[in-house]
Amino acid sequence: MISSAILHTTLKENFGFEKFRTNQEAIINTILNTQDCLAIMPTGGGKSICFQLPALLLPGITVVISPLIALMKDQVDSLKANGIAACYINSTQTDEEQQKHIDNLKNNTVKLIYIAPESLSYLDNIFSLLTISLIAIDEAHCISSWGHDFRPSYTNLGYLKNRFPSTPILALTATADKATRQDISNQLNLKNPAVFIASFDRKNLSLEVRPALDRVKQIIDFIDSKPTDSGIIYCLSRKTTEELAEKLQKAGIAAKAYHAGLDAELRSKTQDDFINDECQVVCATIAFGMGIDKSNVRWVIHYNLPKNIEGYYQEIGRAGRDGLASETILFESYGDLIQLQKFASQGQNAEIQLAKLERMKQYADAQSCRRKILLSYFGEIVTENCGNCDVCKNPPAFFDGTIHAQKALSAIIRLNESEPLHVIVDFLRGSKNAYIYEKEYQNLKTYGVGIETSWHDWNQYIIQLINLGYCEIAFHQQNKIRLTPLAKKVLFEGEKVQLSTVQKPTEQKSEKSNN
Ligand code: ADP
Ligand code: ZN
Repeated sequence: MISSAILHTTLKENFGFEKFRTNQEAIINTILNTQDCLAIMPTGGGKSICFQLPALLLPGITVVISPLIALMKDQVDSLKANGIAACYINSTQTDEEQQKHIDNLKNNTVKLIYIAPESLSYLDNIFSLLTISLIAIDEAHCISSWGHDFRPSYTNLGYLKNRFPSTPILALTATADKATRQDISNQLNLKNPAVFIASFDRKNLSLEVRPALDRVKQIIDFIDSKPTDSGIIYCLSRKTTEELAEKLQKAGIAAKAYHAGLDAELRSKTQDDFINDECQVVCATIAFGMGIDKSNVRWVIHYNLPKNIEGYYQEIGRAGRDGLASETILFESYGDLIQLQKFASQGQNAEIQLAKLERMKQYADAQSCRRKILLSYFGEIVTENCGNCDVCKNPPAFFDGTIHAQKALSAIIRLNESEPLHVIVDFLRGSKNAYIYEKEYQNLKTYGVGIETSWHDWNQYIIQLINLGYCEIAFHQQNKIRLTPLAKKVLFEGEKVQLSTVQKPTEQKSEKSNN
């Protein structure tokens, strides 16, 4: 057993830190006792030390498996700068370079080797010659198709435990719900792993969801109100990142687009400019941010609805790593939801992905403290409301929406349960557009019964009715809205419906600028 004093001295001398952060020392002790370990820590929590420090104390080599080829060089360079013998092997290197590293391994002159999972075969021939003291698997959620970032190259890693039964495995990830945790452990064949879960609570991040009305204008106003703060805007598609960056540039904002389709040089320039505060805003796909060590990101905006809560939490977690107050805003759009539902239903594990998306939507629609919902998703029980989310700051007001509900549900019946949301709203509002006339909907009963309510409000009320379970969207049938059996209660059995007053984007904005 290595004493705590030695661990602290190693931390200080090799990494320059005075204290361990939450769970670091316990994780290190587990590994030094050769027990398998699953470590779940938020981004920026300090996962790297958990294998870098033991690597120095263990007799043999520490193998670090990571999917992030682009970051390996930086990580190895910074280890070398601390005087730690490290190298990496991945597909970007020449055969000669790879051979050189393999020789160094054989000669026992390296303590740590970073390797991409698809390159592990390079080591196969020499594995028997090496003493491997620790296998660290970074971004371990990539092994699970239940997680949000499944990578096929991870699926084979289960063989490592069979091949090195007495070598401890440390699986690390920033995000894993309970099911994914179990799956990681099973697939890696971990033996009785010690599981460490650091609190995911990031109190300095404010949480806010806004309807995606006039998104671009809302974003420009937001950025203009804090001209020196830098932030990231996550978008669903590459095209959106480019279009949005251009619109922001036109509004005089130093914004750039970032996605995996841009060439490597441009990407790394954008990254550098962002880190050095030369570019204020990056409009990015989720490809941006993994491993970017910028502590003063003051805000993160989701232009589109994220696919699931894990991804969302990881992305907002890139704000405020310095611990100072930072803002996060998620724009909720019905259109995004439909598109994501389509993607999810066509992809792998459709059922699970759809269920995760459903949780994401419930979060966005929540009428109670958002942080409670997030933390409970990660298995943390919180009893207090956070006071730093939009629901806590501005609790929703409910009104008796029974008449609204009756009108909307009747309209859906009149339209034969065969029209999507926007047509129902047009119909309720007595719109005179070409489609309505073409279908002769103006002659039906209930046409125009909702003229006194604005288009935007109707849209939101019907979404609430969907969330309350009175009607549903038929995703495989052009998103027609149809009734559920519950609707009967409202239409015929006198059930009352509470709707919450719709927040106007403009009201939210004026409230913001007072902050
Ligand atoms: P993660 O991989 O969990 O996102 P990192 O390992 O990259 O996090 O660590 C995030 C930052 O925290 C790095 O800048 C790292 O140097 C710093 N850090 C890690 N452990 C400590 C510690 N015990 N004390 C102070 N800083 C630390
Ligand atoms: Zn709250």
